[in-house]
Amino acid sequence: MPIYEYVCENCSKKFEMIRPINEADKAAGCPDCHSTHTHRAVSKCFSKGDGLTVSSGSGGCHSCTGGSCAHCGH
Ligand SMILES: [Zn+2]
Repeated sequence: MPIYEYVCENCSKKFEMIRPINEADKAAGCPDCHSTHTHRAVSKCFSKGDGLTVSSGSGGCHSCTGGSCAHCGH
């Protein structure tokens, strides 16, 4: 399952959740304040579009920090 990033509108905390694709847009509860006033953060990898390069074997793509594409779903 892909990892999605969310931003809490109540306390501005960013957090990640692993969820099925069909639940990606459902409200995610903030782990800090338990507010459901959250929205999905736009993935940096997806917003780069065609400029994205993925090198095979390294386990990460161009825009991923931390050397893993687990965060951007690639
Ligand atoms: Zn919060």
